[in-house]
Amino acid sequence: MATTKFAVAPMKAAQIPKPGADFEIVEREIPNPAAGEVRIKVQACGICHSDVLTKEGALPGIQYPRVPGHEVAGVIDEVGAGVAVWKKGQRVGVGWHGGQDNTCPSCRRGDFRNCRNLKIPGVSYDGGYQQYMVAPVEALVTIPESLSDIEAAPLLCAGITTYNALRHSGAMPGDLVAVQGIGGLGHLGIQFANKFGYKVAAIGRGAENATLAKKLGATVYVDSKATNAAEALQKLGGAQVILATAPNSKAMSELINGLGPNGKLMVIGATFDPIEVTPPQLIFGSRTIQGWAAGTPADSEDTLRFAELTGVRPMIETYPLEKAAEGYARMMSGNAQFRVVLTM
Ligand SMILES: [Zn+2]
Ligand SMILES: [Zn+2]
Repeated sequence: MATTKFAVAPMKAAQIPKPGADFEIVEREIPNPAAGEVRIKVQACGICHSDVLTKEGALPGIQYPRVPGHEVAGVIDEVGAGVAVWKKGQRVGVGWHGGQDNTCPSCRRGDFRNCRNLKIPGVSYDGGYQQYMVAPVEALVTIPESLSDIEAAPLLCAGITTYNALRHSGAMPGDLVAVQGIGGLGHLGIQFANKFGYKVAAIGRGAENATLAKKLGATVYVDSKATNAAEALQKLGGAQVILATAPNSKAMSELINGLGPNGKLMVIGATFDPIEVTPPQLIFGSRTIQGWAAGTPADSEDTLRFAELTGVRPMIETYPLEKAAEGYARMMSGNAQFRVVLTM
């Protein structure tokens, strides 16, 4: 009788049974979409450092077992009641923005990105580390034909975050923009910054990333181990924007003196240590520090369209769903080149 429960084809999922526990590969029934939702046959799902929130239970209110994953690419396989615009067979993605409540003060102003009750796939509901997932229509992103699933997936969190932060940073074509960190976020940030027409200074630790950084579009490579990176930026005239991608608050703090007048430190690398800055560092030169989180599905579509137009692509390593634990460990090691993507 053990097969009765899954008489209709079951599916595989990689779930976290409780906070801090290891991944387990389980069979589940294929979920059905409720009203206003679609079911996606997942083809690829990126592994993002923010998946640590689900793995370790770092956010309150997560229900377990939970399937992580917010860099999802696949095909609509079933639509729920009342879904008119989205069709079966359509290629779609789901990123960090997994749905908004439409009623909070931010939503009432149209600022869905900052919804106070933002839903996050893999946190608020089961994400993309599984063969099928359901998602509300307000989370869906159209994927252009020329992008493969494994290319599109990382662009839905790492891609949109760097793209959207840069395009809202105030930097203009020709400005000096530094990208701190050459990793999962930084290798995309360098490419976008180059295609936006900035003079790009890539900042990494050690000489070994110089060739790659220049290949990705950096004009200058600054080795922060060998030189004082802030002084190096000042020699170039001071950065209009520093996109801080590596989750290292000390390294971010050391770069603030590299900002030019009216320069901005744009923080997207998430770590819980404080950034240190003195008031005069900000007062003289009118410098600012700003954070940025991802964006809406429409912003994701802009990101994918821009990538399609300009050739920006993530560098990826793929793992099959069954090896989710290995893929996650590879991402956590910091040695992946540069995004890890699960394939179904
Ligand atoms: Zn992410
Ligand atoms: Zn809201």
